[in-house]
Amino acid sequence: MPVPIEITILGSGSAIPTPRRMQPAILFKYEGDYILFDCGESAQLSLQKVNISPIKIKRIFITHWHADHFGGLIPLIETLHMLGRKEPLEIYGPEAEWFVDKILELSYWRFGFDIKARDVSVERKEKIVEEEKYEIYSFPVKHSVPSVGYIFCEKEHWKIIPSKAKKFGLYGEQLQLIKKKGSLVVNGKKVMISEIAKRIPGRIVAYSGDTLPVEEFFANASNGLMIHDATFVEEIDGRMHSSFTEVCALAKKYRIKKLVLTHFSRRYTNEKELREKAKKLFRNSVIARDGMKIKW
Ligand SMILES: [Zn+2]
Repeated sequence: MPVPIEITILGSGSAIPTPRRMQPAILFKYEGDYILFDCGESAQLSLQKVNISPIKIKRIFITHWHADHFGGLIPLIETLHMLGRKEPLEIYGPEAEWFVDKILELSYWRFGFDIKARDVSVERKEKIVEEEKYEIYSFPVKHSVPSVGYIFCEKEHWKIIPSKAKKFGLYGEQLQLIKKKGSLVVNGKKVMISEIAKRIPGRIVAYSGDTLPVEEFFANASNGLMIHDATFVEEIDGRMHSSFTEVCALAKKYRIKKLVLTHFSRRYTNEKELREKAKKLFRNSVIARDGMKIKW
């Protein structure tokens, strides 16, 4: 079994926080990498509640620059400085260079670490991170200001079948080598990776930020885990957000394996009702809750 991706909902509310639902922030952990998606005003308090030090965060992805999605950045950066961070911090988002610059101007601090702002496209899907085992894409969505969603894609990989590897005389370091190169010559004979291993497709996790429903975003997260804006239960004209009805219909259409609804308006106080409504619309749905952990 692969190591689970761990997702912690730090804030499941919308623009006006309540004691039960803070502003949007999602912590994402893949193997040793910690990533933060959005950083609402109480993000660092929520991190403390789940016992995770913010110093571990490698990158921050902001979906758009409405205060409920970035209000926690200034205090978080100051905390990182006080904790003695040395590693650079990357902050992604539409027009991130401009916004991060302005945020840094608001402080007397000289930080002990570099902050690298990276602009992402609001025109098209763009690969913004490439690591050995995964990639992260930004994806334009539809909100009242330039906004993107993010899609984490684990790369497909090979799982060695020990009995087959043994049959071809492959052991130890050779197994890592054949995984890397795709083939290896053993005792004068070329062995292909497909002869000794099973192909494992990569996992997908998508986070929409605030948006009207965007079909292509769902299409790009097919068979994956989707964390989506569900500010309202029913559609409300003129609001640049999504409703339960719309999101669940698209999740069904694009075969989303698990749907996490989040960013709820504070008018909804009965979680049981929300859960029942969502389950009726889409069986594999969950209502996000502050502090909720999801393994994927
Ligand atoms: Zn919002």
